This record gives sequence, C-alpha cells and structure tokens, in this order.
Amino acid sequence: MDPFDYNSTERASLPRNMIENSMFEEEPDVVDLARDSAAYPVHSSHFTTFPALDPDDTVYEPRSSRLLVRGLGENDVDDDEEDCESSARLLGMSFMNRSATQRSNVSPYVRQPPPRSCSPCSARTLVVCVLFLVIVASMIMVLYFLPGCNFTKMGCPKQENGTSNSTDDELFPWAQFQLPRSIRPLSYDLTLNPDLSTMDFSGHTVINMLVLHNTKRIVLHSAYLNITKATFKLGDGEASDVTILENKPREQIAVKFSEELKAGQHCVLILDYTASLSHTYNGFYNSSYTDLNGNKRVLAATQFEPLYARKAFPCFDEPSFKATFLIKINRKPEHMTLSNMPKAKSTPLVNGLVQDEFAKTSVNMSTYLVAFVVGNFTAVSKNVSDTLLSVYSVPQKKEHTDYALDTASKLLEFYNDFFEINYPLQKLDLVGIPDFLAGAMENWGLITFRESTLLVGRDASLMEKQDVASVIAHELAHQWFGNLVTMSWWSDLWLNEGFASYMQFTSLQIVMPQLDMGSLFLNVRFRALDIDALNSSHAVSTEVKTQEQVHEMFDSVSYLKGASILLMLNASLPGDQQFRKGIIQYLKQFSGLNTDTDDLWNSLTEVEVSSQHPNVSEMMRSWTSQKGFPLVTVSRQGAEVTLKQEIFQLTSNDARHSSSLWTIPLTYVNDSCSLAPECRQVFMLKTKSETLKVPETVKWLKLNYRSTGFYIVDYGDDGWAALTDALFNNSQVLSAEDRASLIHNIFALSSLGRVSLRQVFHLLKYMSNETEMSPVSEALLHLNHMYQMLNKRYEQDLAARLKAYILKHFGALMDKQTWTKEESMSKMNLRSALLETACDLGQEKCKQNAKDIFKQYVDSNGTFQIPGDLQRVVFSVAAQSSEDWETLLTLYHYATYDSEKQNMLRGLASTQDTRKIVWLLNGALNNDIIKVQNIPLVFKTICRSFAGNLITWDFIQDNWNQLIQTFPLGSFPIQSIVKSVTFQLSTQSHLNQVQYFFSSLSERGSQSRSMQEALEKIRLNQRWMERSLPALQNI
Ligand SMILES: [Zn+2]
Repeated sequence: MDPFDYNSTERASLPRNMIENSMFEEEPDVVDLARDSAAYPVHSSHFTTFPALDPDDTVYEPRSSRLLVRGLGENDVDDDEEDCESSARLLGMSFMNRSATQRSNVSPYVRQPPPRSCSPCSARTLVVCVLFLVIVASMIMVLYFLPGCNFTKMGCPKQENGTSNSTDDELFPWAQFQLPRSIRPLSYDLTLNPDLSTMDFSGHTVINMLVLHNTKRIVLHSAYLNITKATFKLGDGEASDVTILENKPREQIAVKFSEELKAGQHCVLILDYTASLSHTYNGFYNSSYTDLNGNKRVLAATQFEPLYARKAFPCFDEPSFKATFLIKINRKPEHMTLSNMPKAKSTPLVNGLVQDEFAKTSVNMSTYLVAFVVGNFTAVSKNVSDTLLSVYSVPQKKEHTDYALDTASKLLEFYNDFFEINYPLQKLDLVGIPDFLAGAMENWGLITFRESTLLVGRDASLMEKQDVASVIAHELAHQWFGNLVTMSWWSDLWLNEGFASYMQFTSLQIVMPQLDMGSLFLNVRFRALDIDALNSSHAVSTEVKTQEQVHEMFDSVSYLKGASILLMLNASLPGDQQFRKGIIQYLKQFSGLNTDTDDLWNSLTEVEVSSQHPNVSEMMRSWTSQKGFPLVTVSRQGAEVTLKQEIFQLTSNDARHSSSLWTIPLTYVNDSCSLAPECRQVFMLKTKSETLKVPETVKWLKLNYRSTGFYIVDYGDDGWAALTDALFNNSQVLSAEDRASLIHNIFALSSLGRVSLRQVFHLLKYMSNETEMSPVSEALLHLNHMYQMLNKRYEQDLAARLKAYILKHFGALMDKQTWTKEESMSKMNLRSALLETACDLGQEKCKQNAKDIFKQYVDSNGTFQIPGDLQRVVFSVAAQSSEDWETLLTLYHYATYDSEKQNMLRGLASTQDTRKIVWLLNGALNNDIIKVQNIPLVFKTICRSFAGNLITWDFIQDNWNQLIQTFPLGSFPIQSIVKSVTFQLSTQSHLNQVQYFFSSLSERGSQSRSMQEALEKIRLNQRWMERSLPALQNI
C-alpha cells in the first residue's frame, strides 16, 4: 500500500504527512470499542435504541468525560460496566455472542438490554463484579485443564445439530489477537452478489482447509457480516449445519466441535451471509462519481489491507494464511467486473443478472491482496512480456491513462529483468478509483489507485508525472516484495513497504532518469532521520499485538527508514551487483512463502563474497531491532581521528550512557578528493569509539558520503568551522547531496543542543552562492518551520526578523525564477520551493506574478494552463483575495482533472479568512464538496496559518468522534491530522491543552504513537525555542 499522497504533501517536506508513534502494551479498552462501533456503516439505528442525551448535559459536560464514552452513541455509560467488560475480555470472554442475524446494524459496544453481567455503579456492584470475575476465571482455568474439553462453560457439550447462531451463554474458544495455527485454509470459493442500488451485498464462501494439529475448534475472521447459514463437512462425510460463535472486538468467529479434528484431515466450511457495502473506503465499499452528463454513477471497489478482507468474506485474514481464490461476482448487464485474475466466463442468470467467474488464482496469496471492482470502466491495454497490461479509468477520464500505461510497461519489463523472476500472472490491471483513501494498493493483478496517482493530463508537468510514476513503481515492486514473498506478520511490514519504497526510487533512477528521483530519495532520508530521532519512534521490526498497532505500522519507519537502511546496505557492499544478487536469491528461495527480517539478512549474507565485509545479518540486525540511529562524533588530533557513536535521541537526557550500538558502514571524503565515487573511503565502526589515521595535510573530512548512511555527524567546533570555510570559498567542493546533508545535520544538532544557532547561520552564509535544489530546499524547510513556530507563539518581531533574513539571503535566487513552463525536474523543484516561500512571506514581486498568472488563467477560459509546479503557489495567492477565492471555488467545482483539482483545494484551504476556514473544515468532514480522502490535505493546509491552526485544533477536539468514525484510530489519516495541528506548537499553554485533550481520550487514545509523538514534538519545540530566542534577536 502506498499511503503517501504525493500530491497532498509539501514537496519540501514530502513525508511529513506520516508520523510514527510509540508502542503501547495495554489490552483494548473503551477506545478500541468505540472504534469498532464507529466503523459500523449504520449508526443512526442505535441512537434510536437509547434515550438521547439531554442537550444540557452535552453542553456542560466536560470534554474528557464525553470522549470517554465515544462509540457508545454518546449515551451515558457507567464505569462499572466498562471495567467488567474490559476485565472479562482479558480473560478471553465474549460478552458479544449474540445472534449473528441481529448484528449487522448494531455496534458491538452499544449497551444491550438485560441480562447484564454487571449492574450499574456502587461499591456493592464492584464487589459482585470482582467475585463474578474470580469465579469465571477459576472456571476457565479448570475447564482449560480438563482433558477433552476446550474452553466451554458447560463442560463438554454435545455437538450441536442444526443451524443456529451464537448464544449469549457460550464462550468464545480463542482469546488471542492472532488466529490459532491448527487449521490452514487451502482455497476459497467466493460468490458475491453486490446490489449497487441498495448498497448491500450477499455472499457465499466455501473454505477448504487442512487440519495441521488436532483441534476442536476452527477460528477465523469476520467483521460486520450477517452470517445466515453455516455448514461444515469433514473429509468425505456429510455436510451438517454448525453454530457460529463470535468475538466482535477481535473480529473473530469460531466453530466448536465435540470430537477432535485430526491432523492431516481435510474439511470444508460453507458460509452464507449478507452485509452492507461499506461507506468508509475499506472492505467492500461503495464509491460514486458524476459523469459528463451530470448523472451520478455508482461503483463498488475493495481495500483489504491491512484488516478488511474480513468485511467482505469470512476468512483467515492474516498474511501468513496464503490460499488460492476462485471468485464469482453477479452483476447487472450494464456493469463490468474486475478481479485479481482474468475473467474465465460470463453466465446469464435467471434473475437478469450476469455472473462473471474469474480464473482460480494460479498462486497462493494472502487475503489482504484479494480485490474486485464492479462498475463502469474503460481501458487502454498492451502486451508486455506475456502479460496483458491495462489501465482502467471511469469512461470520461480515458484520455488521461496513456502515461500510466507507458510507465507501467517500462517498469514491468525492468522488474522482470531485475528480479530475474517474471511477473507470474497473465494480466495486470491498474484501476483509478474515484474514492480511494490511500495513494494506491498493490492487490495482485489488480492494483487500485487514487485517480490523482494514476491519471495524467496531456499537458502535465514532469512534477505531476513524477508523482504518478513513483506510485506505479512502488506498487509494481510489491508484486514481488509483498505479493510473491510476504511478511509473516505485520511486525515486519517493512519487508513489504521498505523494499517497495526503495525500489520505487532506485528503479525510476534507471528507467526514467529525467524524474530526478535521487533528490526525492535524499529528502526522504532526511525526513526519516527527523522522525526516528524522537523517543516515540520504534524499531523497524517491532511487536504488533492489536488492531491499532497494525494500522500504526503504516508509518515513516516502515516505509522511509526501511528504504534508507536498504540503500545504506547496498552502498556498503562491494560491487554494485551484490545486493541485487542477494535479493534475487531471497525472492527465489521464498517465492510463494512468508518471511521475517532474519530470512532477508540470511539470504544477503549467503551471497556475500568479501571476507572484509562484516556479516550482513550482524550489521543489519543492529538497524532493524532497535529504534533510532547513531550520532557519530568526529574529533581530530593531527593524523588521528577519533570516531564515537551514541544514540541520537532528542528527548533522552542520558544518551551517552545508552546501550544502543550499531555496526555503521561509515564513509568519508576529504579536501583532496571529495566528489568522485573513488574518493569515498569506508570504515566499519562497530564499537562505541574507534580511531582512524588520515594524512596530517588533510584540512577537513566530510563523513557519510552523499548521505547514503542512516546517521548524523557532529564534526565538533573545529570540524564545522573548517567545512563552513571550505564551502564559503567554493561551494562546489562538495556534491549537492553532501551540502544538503551538512545543512540537515547542523539543524538536527541544533535541535539536540550540540551546536548553537549562531553556528547554523554561519554555515548558511555560504548559501548566497547556492543554486542546487536539495541544499536550498533543505535550508528553506527548516527556516520556514522556525518562522511558522515563531508566528504561532506570537513572536511577531522575531518572525519579522527571520522573514527579512530569508528574503535577504534567498531573495536574489527567488527573483531569478521563471514563471513559464519548465522542463527540468530539479529546476521545477527549486523554483516551487523558492516561490512558495516568497509568496508565503508576502514578497510583492512573487505575489504580483502569481496574481497575473491567475488572471490570465481565468480570462483564457480554459485555453491557458498554469504549469503544474506553479499551481500551488498561484492558487494559494489567489485564495487570499475574497473575490478570487470565490472564483477558485467555482473552478474547483467544475474541474475534472484530479491533480489540478487538488491544487485548487490546497489553494482554497490556504485562505486566512476564518469564516471560510470553518466552512471548509465542515465541508471536509461532511463530505460536501470535499472528498473524505482529501480531509488530511485540507487540515494540513489550513494549519499552516496561525488562525487556521487554532481553529482546526478546536474543530478536531469538537469533532474527534466523527473523525475516528471516518478513519480508524492509528491509521495514517489520523496520524497526519494529529501531526498537522500540533507539530509547530511550542508554548506551555499549547502543550497543556494538547495534553489535556489527549489524556481525555482514555488510556489507549493517549498512548497511541501519533499522540505521544505530538506531545514530544511540542516539548522539543518549546525547549528549542527557549534556547534559541536570544540568538534569533541577533540574526
Ligand atoms: Zn506499499
């Protein structure tokens, strides 16, 4: 999956819409329950079940208590009941075993009528509850150890006959988040019957299974499915009806047996069910668009990663349960369907529908990779090395599909060759879905995309093409990394995402060098370092034990740090084919299987030829098993250079005593040879401190050649002074990557308190001669961040001073930028970074140019196109005038080209007018004129301004419930929203407010990684500001 919406992120801070979070270890509590209930498509029904809150209660009730009961329909709840339920679940009990036929519209944590296990309130109740729990716990333990019995409350019950659903008095036979390993699914036979007019569907699922270990239960996943019939067949025996038990919080169902199923036996479970098409862009969900005649068209699509296949069909919904799939979909004659495999046949049905049957998958695959689409699409296709490659869009956007087809065909050929394994399916479809939350999803054979990450207009700029090509390269790489070889569990998600991200940058550098992916990758590494420096970060491979933790793995550490450490490994290996040989071996050895991180390192170790190189496993485990990265300190006495490593941790007070240790493939160059690859020297730093010798004549050393290593370097006062002088004399003495990395590192060290702000500005003096994109955009990123922080803490004088500094030092370069169509990617990136800063800071010349271009655009009636890389700055300036904002809104309404439409939305959201800001926030949340998928973009853009940040903060607090009904807690949109509204705050009062709100969200809410990170970031901003304010007076 690619959660980055490349269009929605600041180019200078590309990955900033993703945040990683710290781990939490608690069992689910009330917040989890709220999320579960929130995900139900029908909410209104349960509001009618219970009396509404007295409006006065809502008004005067403290926010904290309201939030504690979210998900319960804002009805009051007594704490005793909550405690009992939470405790009971810890014991593996299910309070939710109700008839499956009653469930589809009912939230799992809406309170049910009596009988209630724990009655309201009072000390007496508490005592009763405790006694009850002790008794239940004892019974469970006794029953557990009773031979032949398996977690049943009634002892050893007889096999139930006939079909019935779970009853209130039966206990669920499994108490863990991950499924038992005693049964393995071999194949699924799915028939789906979606009705796009009622937005419901029914399904029939046949699961063939193999018993691996003797067992009396089958446990699998199901969520929000109303199971109407269940039958079971063992071997060649007769099929008989069985009872389905359910544990709703864990989204698991089970069948219990009185006789053991024996290892080696085959069995079949057949389930019929009904459900609603989801409204939340996951599972089997509905989507719509308006055609050229103004008619609303509906379609249905799927998004199953990570935990949503269970919303479309009952299944063993974990990546290690690979199986084959035979899929049949019934549709209206005017619709079409797509799935992972090519269509095998279409059969008319008696009810006027048509059944499309797809070929059985020729490969074993994980459930999260299954996909199907129903609607109206048109395609462009071509054959690429025996694979039929097609790009599908809604009919009116067919003309925007050519670029994607061309790019995908080049990349498919490249990957076939690079991995030495051909793409294994007969066809590969790329489909643009009008409503799509992530950037794209790598379903095997049917990759789904947001329209803006797939469709490209004929006059699109290279920058727009880079966005699309990046996502295609990422998803195509997944067909090998993820689909062919899959991580065993979500704790190693980086094996999928780190690799796909690494391949997206490196493949395009070869296939489409004009896209300048090297600069983008460099920027990604800087952002990965920034995020991994926080205490709230986590190890690349990390434990995952809850649904929220699964969602939280889709973050910068898995994607960006994952890609960064792979680059470091590749750069440290002798010869440029070593790494490739290793990953080919890994793919071949584990083709069709599941792996963990050690499997990868072992494969790479096996092909190692050089005895000089350290063991890959040994080296790389130090990068994947511990969070953070090293700070390398350089000190020099004549010919002797001492290198020390310690953890770079912004909030830790005792970093020097930390036990973290990395095997660092250090690289360095010096003043006599600093540019060519041959200048690079390598030194393996395996201990806390080591020394190396350099000629006495060396004037300076630059470590981390071209910033391919994942560490930060402090050169000490003398070292920094020598490098600063060298750059001031001749900036070309180092490569642009090395100059950018010095700028990145010195700002990071300033955050750490290792260098003064004076030293930072001293280094930046050389920048009057700087013209390259990476160093300029890196400096502007940090200066803009400082400027916005000053604004948001009312330091207007200092903000004005910093603004003058930026305009003075970069003004000449800003003025040199052109406003006409540009062909070079690096020039486009440079000018968009410079001009967006110039116009943001109110530089008159920039504003006037932008206004002129907007007028020309409006007057031309569609004949004049604003260059893609300038659209953001032009629309943002236009939005500052009330009249032009209205014009922009009209243009937005009629725009059909998604990339341009997003830039218009970004422009609209950059208004400073508070009424418009509130209108936009409401519009985003209510899915009026702004698609749900663009909510993070709108919030992020609005938060750039002081007023917008404050209004959004209030808005988020007031509408938190609705937000987490839209996006799962821990998911990347929630991560992004939390980050956008907090990451530039730096005062104690802001910290108090944020802390108060987070703590009001109950234990687990406040422990989510994104919230921990937000609090840490505010504290760091506060510390940095207090330290830097005096220095800022003198710039
Ligand atoms: Zn991905």
